[in-house]
Amino acid sequence: DGSSFDLKAHIRAVPDFPKPGILFYDICTLLRDGPAFNAAIKMLADLVRPYRPTTLAGIESRGFVLAAPLALELGLGFILLRKPRKLPGATIGYNYALEYGTDRLEIQADAVKKGDRVVLLDDLLATGGTMAAGIRLLKEAGAEVPLAAAMIELTFLNGRARLDAPFEALAAYD
Ligand code: 5GP
Repeated sequence: DGSSFDLKAHIRAVPDFPKPGILFYDICTLLRDGPAFNAAIKMLADLVRPYRPTTLAGIESRGFVLAAPLALELGLGFILLRKPRKLPGATIGYNYALEYGTDRLEIQADAVKKGDRVVLLDDLLATGGTMAAGIRLLKEAGAEVPLAAAMIELTFLNGRARLDAPFEALAAYD
């Protein structure tokens, strides 16, 4: 039971990463701590379970670190949303804008099965561009997306307004 667990106490804020002026919330400190990692996954399981997913999906690469143990905890499989040219076979891709330039996420064309309710995971929601792209891609592939979830939400960026799915996070910074 993770209900009394202080998630934020295990997140390290790193100034000026990856560039000057950015305060980066580092989850490696949490992952490095066994009981903390365990409690965070239990909390995510409690958050996600009511949405009755049939499958989970994670965004490369820190989304994988959460989606895989959560899939085991919930007894589900999980789908990898990856950066370009990493997945074999037929893929569906979606390009999205970054602050400078563009990026792209891909999914295997046969990953989503008819009737799938896919909950999408990433470590952190900032502007929402990455999560919005992931939701688009899953829906294009035929999935229902009852929830997108992250461990951390940077509420001052209002990224959730860009998402075409309900969103929940375990902790918020403003
Ligand atoms: P967005 O597309 O919402 O602007 O950025 C979110 C994506 O960038 C996520 O995939 C996340 O992993 C990464 N990201 C952006 N800022 C941070 C941060 O402060 N900490 C971590 N851990 N990831 C971040």
